Amino acid sequence: MSKIQDVVTYMQQVAPPALQESYDNAQLLTGQPDSKVQGLLITLDCTEEVVDEAIALGANLIVAHHPVIFGGLKKLTGSNYVERTIIKAIKHDVAILAVHTNLDKVIPGVSHHLAGRIGLQGIRVLQPERNLRKLVTFIPTEHTRQVLDSLHAAGAGNIGNYSECSFKITGKGYFKPNEAANPAIGQKHVREEVTEDRVEVIYPAYLSGAILSALRSAHPYEEVAYYETELTNANQENGLGAVGELPEPMSTEAFLQHLQSSLDLSCIRHTPFSGEIKKVAVCGGSGTFLLGAARAAGADAYVTADVKYHEFFDAENQLLFCDIGHYESEVGTKDLLYDLLSKKFTNFALHLSKVITNPIRYFY
Ligand SMILES: [Zn+2]
Repeated sequence: MSKIQDVVTYMQQVAPPALQESYDNAQLLTGQPDSKVQGLLITLDCTEEVVDEAIALGANLIVAHHPVIFGGLKKLTGSNYVERTIIKAIKHDVAILAVHTNLDKVIPGVSHHLAGRIGLQGIRVLQPERNLRKLVTFIPTEHTRQVLDSLHAAGAGNIGNYSECSFKITGKGYFKPNEAANPAIGQKHVREEVTEDRVEVIYPAYLSGAILSALRSAHPYEEVAYYETELTNANQENGLGAVGELPEPMSTEAFLQHLQSSLDLSCIRHTPFSGEIKKVAVCGGSGTFLLGAARAAGADAYVTADVKYHEFFDAENQLLFCDIGHYESEVGTKDLLYDLLSKKFTNFALHLSKVITNPIRYFY
């Protein structure tokens, strides 16, 4: 039987919490990690109605994209929907796990999933993180393989579609152990010369602790010589937004129709634009801040949500700027979470919430 912590740990592997934005609160919000999972309900937003749905289904874990506790709670008296939702969840022993901007920044993540629903090809991160580090270490040659295996197992050496990437060059290492040393090779007070490999691997910064601990546990030396450097390279694996190409160019009108039908939209707010649409950038949720990145990527259209009046002007007629609604841009995240969780867990029921949590209705 899986525990709530097993689901939390798995989701942390998929969407590392270290990637979340500073304002975010993507974590286990209610519930005890040791409790067994009786059933799991997936939702975009966790509202009282969703907690009721979980109770009726016998599901004691809700996995939500938006954290219902966001700005901090100082009391729980039921004076607003956040407090009432939390009170109800705790009273009925329902755990709530939020996977938010950390899920926005991975592949497959929120925006990549949205890009897939639109049918884009060659999907890549629109605004890559610059969170890469490089480890350089020196290993006696006969131990290089075991140290590299350990570093790769901890997540080092992944570049795009390639894993186990590393570089090595062989040279000489020198050292002299002192009285207190317990050297793996050599003797106290005697200068030693060893044939060593200088090995280099890269990894995202959030794996640094795991990588250094893997290095120390696999390396034969008492004192491991290494250095870690922050890189300025873009990390194509982590970042906000996505960009890709339509299989065939479309007119603006055809693209808007395509967008409407592929995402089941009742309404699209957009800037006037008369060019052809081939390259499309997207960001699920409030993504106006990526308009510059979309323009820099040469996108013909940028699809996001929560765009304000004056922000539409910033498109400068350079691209088709579309606001499809926050809920509409992210509702597919439920399917993404279902795909991710159903791949890993088969010993409890997974449910997709049927509650339409969108607080906005359109009258036209
Ligand atoms: Zn959102």
